[in-house]
Amino acid sequence: MRGVVMHAPGDVRVEQRADPRIEAPTDAVIRVVAACVCGSDLWPWRGIQEVHEAPMGHEYVGVVEEVGAEVRDIRVGDFVVGSFFASDNTCEICRAGYQSRCVHAEPMGAIGTQAEYARVPWADGTLVAVPGQPPADLIPSLLTASDVLGTGWFGAVAAEAGPGKTVAVVGDGAVGLHAVLAARQLGAERIIAVSRHEARQKLALDYGATDIVTERGDAGVAKVRELTGGLGAHSVVEAVGTQESMMQAIRSARPGGHVGYVGVAHGVELPGLELFFSGVHLHGGPAPVRRFLPELIDLIWRRRIDPGKVFDLELPLDQAAEGYRAMDERRATKVLLRP
Ligand SMILES: [Zn+2]
Repeated sequence: MRGVVMHAPGDVRVEQRADPRIEAPTDAVIRVVAACVCGSDLWPWRGIQEVHEAPMGHEYVGVVEEVGAEVRDIRVGDFVVGSFFASDNTCEICRAGYQSRCVHAEPMGAIGTQAEYARVPWADGTLVAVPGQPPADLIPSLLTASDVLGTGWFGAVAAEAGPGKTVAVVGDGAVGLHAVLAARQLGAERIIAVSRHEARQKLALDYGATDIVTERGDAGVAKVRELTGGLGAHSVVEAVGTQESMMQAIRSARPGGHVGYVGVAHGVELPGLELFFSGVHLHGGPAPVRRFLPELIDLIWRRRIDPGKVFDLELPLDQAAEGYRAMDERRATKVLLRP
């Protein structure tokens, strides 16, 4: 089969990879219908994270081609959405709702879903079948549930977004934009999106943002405080993963407020004394997307939300390298790949 391999920073190629097959009786093999490029794929692309001949991609929707002998719920022919972490969905950690840290968790990124086919470990625990074969226009939205929508949703839940709350979202990538959408769905009263990019500001407003802040760092903090009577937001979602964005998020929250951090941290160090006196709750990590998949699929299926709007470039898998370049240069917010 054809699949994306990153040989080195900035060097993405589509080449022949071994056809996946059932390796454990709990596996499934899917034909990937759509995959995409994630903001986190840009870390190795930019040389910030080490990479050497790595298969790429962890977001996917597809049709089940084959299941192992112990797979009970997922059937051949099902159209499925899965999380970017495989999980058994039965261990204590999964049952508590933290499937991305399952005792059997396996990162789908190591398998590489920017490909024609993919093996999915723990098929019953990882995959959710949608109610039927989806109409073509729902496929991009279902694909977002695999990561960016599920991650933005977890960021908003971790930040305790809800009725009566003011929510600030630091980061205007696909995850931050979906945290805005999630905060709206969760009933937040006011949603402040931090973005200096015009197209993304528009999408944030479309997704439910009530205010836009263009300032970053401490100037952004001052702006959020100004908008919240000097107190700071009740809930802040951090969706970038840098020192600056994390401190902006913590400082934008009021004492007693909640920060949901879902940007993959790179070089972030927290000053203990400032954290001590901030009085904020911190909760985050790799999103347990599997917890939210049934609810998100239902909202998409009933056309209550339209997260697929985040895709502003669609390419055949063979042009994956151009997709990486477009996202790196911020010419595209989110790139969909069709195998
Ligand atoms: Zn588990």
